[in-house]
Amino acid sequence: MTDMGLEERPTVLEGTESYRARRPSIAGSEVPQQPFPILLSGAVQRGFGRGGKDLGCPTANLPDESITPMSSVTEPGVYYGYAQVSREKDGQVVLSEEEGKVLPMVMSLGWNPFYKNERMSAEIHIMHPFSNDFYGHNMKVIILGYIRPELDYVSREALIEDIETDKRVALKSLERPAYARYQSDPFFQGDVAQPRL
Ligand code: ADP
Ligand code: MG
Repeated sequence: MTDMGLEERPTVLEGTESYRARRPSIAGSEVPQQPFPILLSGAVQRGFGRGGKDLGCPTANLPDESITPMSSVTEPGVYYGYAQVSREKDGQVVLSEEEGKVLPMVMSLGWNPFYKNERMSAEIHIMHPFSNDFYGHNMKVIILGYIRPELDYVSREALIEDIETDKRVALKSLERPAYARYQSDPFFQGDVAQPRL
């Protein structure tokens, strides 16, 4: 397995600096458009340890097979929506009520270095301070919109700054009623592990 650093990821956008300077504060139209919403579910796995926590932005990984519903989306980049982590693991309730709620998230969709960049992987940052890791917990995700392409970073500071912007954009975008209503979607109710069709 080759560990691909941020510096070596493929660039998809030219003029990164000018793009970063004029990023809009809200993303997507008033109502989610095709192919959204996309529903994912699976047990949280260990990732590549590419420094999510070091950047102040831990990202939870779903198993490969659970990202199949994303196959209509092949553009690497940052997406937003809602996520819910199961409070239980191995029959024990380990997360607080607050941590088990439906919470806003930002998702990075990128090429998976483990599969020589022929498959994609999705990493999800939930906008909530969890008191512990939740590896092995079931996680449900509804993806509602696209924020931006994957950028080529000149510095760690620039990357951290963009992640902060992504979180603001996601929260603002999710405030719109046609998006906010997914927070109470039946997909998130109960203990059904699989997305309804
Ligand atoms: P890995 O490479 O294993 O994905 P990260 O540094 O990205 O490591 O940390 C991800 C893990 O951190 C998640 O799997 C989860 O257990 C935990 N975690 C804690 N808080 C969060 C959060 N707010 N969003 C996502 N994951 C979180
Ligand atoms: Mg991660």
